[in-house]
This record gives sequence, C-alpha cells and structure tokens, in this order.
Amino acid sequence: MDKRPFTELGLSPEILKAVERMGFEEATPIQTLAIPVAMSGKDLVGQSATGSGKTAAFAIPAIEKADAHKRTVQCLFLCPTRELAVQVAEEVGKLALFKRGIHAAPIYGGQSYERQFKALRAGVQIVIGTPGRIMDHLDRGTLKLDDVKFVVLDETDRMLDMGFHDDIVTILKQVPTERQMLFFSATLPRVIQEMIKTFAREPEFLKIEQKEQNAPQVDQSYYEVDRRSKLEVLTRVIDLHDFKYGIIFCSTKLMVDELADHLLTRGYSADRLHGDMSQMAREKTLQKFRAKKIEFLVATDVAGRGLDVVDIEVVFNYDLPNDAEDYVHRIGRTARAGKSGRAITFVSGRDIYRLQNIVRFTKVRIRRERVPSLDQVEEKRESDFFEELRGVLDAGEFKKHDSTIDRLLEQGYASTDIASALIHLQLGGEERDRAAGPDPAEVDARRGERNERERPPFEPRRDGPPRESFERGDRFERGPRQFDERGQRDNSRGPSETRGRAERSRETGMKRVYLNIGHLSMITPANVVGVIANMANVPGSVIGAIDIFPKHTFVDVREEHAEDIVAKLQGIKMKGRYVDAAIVPEDA
Ligand code: ADP
Ligand code: MG
Repeated sequence: MDKRPFTELGLSPEILKAVERMGFEEATPIQTLAIPVAMSGKDLVGQSATGSGKTAAFAIPAIEKADAHKRTVQCLFLCPTRELAVQVAEEVGKLALFKRGIHAAPIYGGQSYERQFKALRAGVQIVIGTPGRIMDHLDRGTLKLDDVKFVVLDETDRMLDMGFHDDIVTILKQVPTERQMLFFSATLPRVIQEMIKTFAREPEFLKIEQKEQNAPQVDQSYYEVDRRSKLEVLTRVIDLHDFKYGIIFCSTKLMVDELADHLLTRGYSADRLHGDMSQMAREKTLQKFRAKKIEFLVATDVAGRGLDVVDIEVVFNYDLPNDAEDYVHRIGRTARAGKSGRAITFVSGRDIYRLQNIVRFTKVRIRRERVPSLDQVEEKRESDFFEELRGVLDAGEFKKHDSTIDRLLEQGYASTDIASALIHLQLGGEERDRAAGPDPAEVDARRGERNERERPPFEPRRDGPPRESFERGDRFERGPRQFDERGQRDNSRGPSETRGRAERSRETGMKRVYLNIGHLSMITPANVVGVIANMANVPGSVIGAIDIFPKHTFVDVREEHAEDIVAKLQGIKMKGRYVDAAIVPEDA
C-alpha cells in the first residue's frame, strides 16, 4: 500500500504546517490517493477501513478550497452521528489552524439552535452536521447552501442504515449543481450506487484493499483504557511483568515526545525515535537501544519501520496503528529468531472497531486483559522481593549485622517485627496517587461487567477468568532497575557505594539540591539525570555529582540553574512519590 509524504501531495504551506504540528509523519494510503483527486476537482468514492485516516483525506482538500474572504458556507460534511460530527469538526479545526479566516462548525441534534445559529451567522465556511439537524436548519432558514461547492458524505452506508436516505437527498437537492461530491463508505450496496449515479459526475472509485497479513506467532493481548489513563496503565503493566526491553509505538511524533518525557519523569529509562530527528541522532539512539542501554524505545511507525533489533521482550501499541499492515510490522519486532514475545495494544473508545478490523485481516487472536490494580502490582513486587530475599538467605551472601539486631532485641523488639520493618523500608511505604481520578483498573472492571455479553467477536469466550496469573518466563534477570549516569545497567548497587562519594566537596559554581527520595524508592542516578534534564530542560552538563541515600538524594547542579531546577522538581512524582526539593545552604 502506497504512502507518501504530505509534501508530495501539492498542499499549501499552512496545511503542511498543520499536519506537522499534529505529528502526522506521512499520508495514509487513502489520503495519498484521495487528496490529489479531490484537489483536482473531481468527484470521488472512497472505500477504506476504519481508522485509515479518511477524515483528513476529505477535510484537507476542503480546507484548501474554501475561500477565507467569503463568509458563506462552502463545504458541507454529512456524518451519521453527532459524536462523529464533533470528532470531524475537531480534526478540521486542527487542520485549518494556520489557514487564517477559515472556520468550521459542527451542527448536530441536542445542542441549542441558538448557539448553532450564532456560529452560522458569524460566518463559517465548513459545516459538519448530521442530516436531521441540517434539515431542521434548512427548514428554519438558518442555514443557506447556495454557496456550497464541496460536499462530503462520510460513512454513507451507516447514514443510510440509520434512515437518513430521504434527508440526504433533500439536502443534496438544495446544493448548487456546480459542486464537487465525495462519498466515503465501507460498502457500496445498491442504494448507494444509485445515489452516486444521481449526485456524482464521473467519480473516481478509490479503494484501499487490505491484504491479509501473516502475523508472527506472538502472544497478543489488548487493554481497554481511557485515553487519560494510558500512561498509568502502561507503567503498571511494565512493572507487573517486569518488562525491561521493549518498543512503544505511538501514532504521532508529538505523542512520542510526550510519552518519552513522561516515562523519564516516572523513572523509566526511555528514549525516542521519530522522523524529525536527524539521521545521526536516530542512529545514536538505535545504537544505545541495541546495546540495551535504554529499556524502552518510544517510536512512530516511520521510524520503527527499518528498525532491526532482535530479542525485544514486548511491543506496546500505545496508540493503534492506522492499518493492519502497520500492526504486523510493529509486532514483528518481537519474537524474532524463534524467541517468544508479547504484543500489547491499548484501545480507547472507538478504537475497538479498528482493532476488530486488524483482527479480520491478520486472523490472529488478540486476548482481552484486565487493567492491573495497584494491589496486583504491589503484590508482584512483594513476591519478587520474597524470591530475592530467599535467594540471598539461601546463598548466605550477606554481611551479618548481629550487633544492631542484638541492640534492637535488647530494647524489647520482636525479631519478626524487626524483619517486617526492614521489608517495609525496602519496599517503601508506597504513596498512592490520590489526585489522579478514578483508578483505571476499577473503571476497566466496571466496563468489563457492563460489556461482558457484547464483547466483540474476536474475544473468544473460552478465555477463562481474566488475569488469573501473572507468571512470566524468567528470561530476564530479576531485581530492581539500576542504571548509572549514562543509563547503563549497574549491578553493584547499594548505599555503600555512594556513601563515600557523599563526602566529596562541592565543585565551585555548583549548588547542592536535596530531594526527599532515595534508594528505598529504587531511584537511580539515571532517573535523577533524566528527570532534571526533562523537567528543567537543561543539558546533562549542568548536573554534577549525585549521591543517593536510602531516603534522600543530593545532586549538584550548576548554580545558575539551581533555583529553576528546584522549582520544576517540586511536587512532581518520581517512582510514585511526590518530590520535595530544596537548595542545601552553603554552610550545611
Ligand atoms: P477513518 O475515518 O478512516 O476511520 P480517521 O480519519 O478517524 O479514520 O483517523 C483515525 C486516526 O488516525 C485519527 O486519530 C487521526 O487523527 C489519525 N490519523 C489520520 N491521518 C493520519 C496520518 N497521516 N498519520 C498519523 N495519524 C493519522
Ligand atoms: Mg471516519
């Protein structure tokens, strides 16, 4: 399937700037085909799967053709539902951002006529509406179609299923005959063919055939997640499975940057890969990733396409890909060379239909999983810790601390309490995020109950109880993540190592910053560098010595940046804890 850069489609600088800003890296196949045809003024009929980017395929030519100097309705988009009308209007708004004087308004049932009337009177060139409400406005005389030159019927088959046939015909009859007609429809039953014959002039039929794809044998599952909870769920799933080497795909460059930053601030070792980076920068990142100096690579499809990295543990589809082909490309990154791997996909809202489409063309089974609760994540940490502790005990590889223990016993503490207190210190008193709204695991559980009977067909019934177990292969070493300043894995952790460095005197021109979080929260120098570099947007050279203690950390930073860094760190979350930061006075 052909995809081309937007720059090759003959578009204005304003539109190119907008798609760049939206983070689109290249046109999807239907956009590649439809945009030039629509720009040339021809009528067209477009058929392609859900999620393939049809909205921009018709919205871009419409915006390009609208005359900003005229305050009349020139483009009319008909959509089956008000949700779709609103969605399309939002996309039009983003695409038209740099086109001065071009305005769009959604017109749908349920919203007051008064408000819509106002929008129409203010002068919009593009109206996006449901047929019923458009009819009402025509009847009331609050909408005039005399100047319309560009009409789109989006999801035509669905509009007809919903009984809008007569409304559509009535509306189209009020549009001047000198106009361009675009039909988009998943199917072309007889009624639609009739409609096309009546209202379109020698239309071009554009169809994006989806080839069946051979998906690799990878364990594939999906989570239903609200858009806002994706980050939280991602980190939970990573923690629960203790993933240490994976790729996370996002649909736009923007999302890639945002997610990479979020992961860094949450203490994961992550880097980004997208089309805006120079070839050299990309190569450098890839090298680091291949050498496993980065745990997670956040990437777009374009950047991920040529990526040849074997041995990846997991591929996350943080955003759904635009077609089945991209899905197969993405998940093909895991389970190379006969190894087993996992592909985990997040779907929110209408994504579920797009996933259905992917399943149809890949013929794979994608299992639904329930969003893990914080308790499950904690349980997992505890059981890992149990294993680790038992390993240390069995191997006898620990220094005796008899005198300390004797002193505590003498003071009347029970040995079991002493041990519990140590475990508590080690695992940290986990502060939970109370401000973040409903817990995504609870939301998912409720959704699960509600939807159980209407699960999409690709969710096999015999799937058994959700998430009854969390075992995974022991392919990767256990233990907390430890990285040094360069993000390298560092197995020689422990307070003893850094304690000596704490004595080191401060370099001139540096200030020492205190953070209320340390080893016990599993923070590492790489985390500290990542968080500071990202939050305060400063280069690594601003950061000097880092001394991590069990419950706090000192980090030296260049004097001139110290206050800004403290301000930026104050109150953010690291490893699930709210950060308290302060500059340590010189004489301390
Ligand atoms: P359809 O109407 O074909 O079902 P949409 O137009 O709703 O698909 O697009 C699906 C998603 O893909 C939207 O989130 C949209 O912003 C995004 N999208 C559209 N075009 C591109 C592109 N060229 N690159 C990346 N994402 C895109
Ligand atoms: Mg659509």
